[in-house]
Amino acid sequence: MIIRNLSFEVPPEGPVCDFCSNPEAKWSYPAHDVTSVVTLGDESTILSSEGAWAACDKCSECIERGDKEGLLNQSFNAVTNDEQTANSEMTLRLLRGIHESFWRSKCGGRRKISGEA
Ligand SMILES: [Zn+2]
Repeated sequence: MIIRNLSFEVPPEGPVCDFCSNPEAKWSYPAHDVTSVVTLGDESTILSSEGAWAACDKCSECIERGDKEGLLNQSFNAVTNDEQTANSEMTLRLLRGIHESFWRSKCGGRRKISGEA
């Protein structure tokens, strides 16, 4: 059994999109702190997130529409472009777990992230 810890922290250069890692995160979604465990085969990943989630324009559009599959595609494409993923099915399930945490913990409408426009 392998346990990995995945937590979402705001990098020092400012928030990036929590869904597709786009550096132009424009929106903030208030959310409760959340911890969940995603088990894939013999590997468990603990996902923890504190407070608000950041989203870029594209991901925010999906969220506003309640388009879970669209949001999942956004994330999946970003991740699989970035690095060679051995098992995309696993990646998809992991992302699904992350997104489920988001939909569950989300507690209010989006807010514009202030900063240089
Ligand atoms: Zn995004």
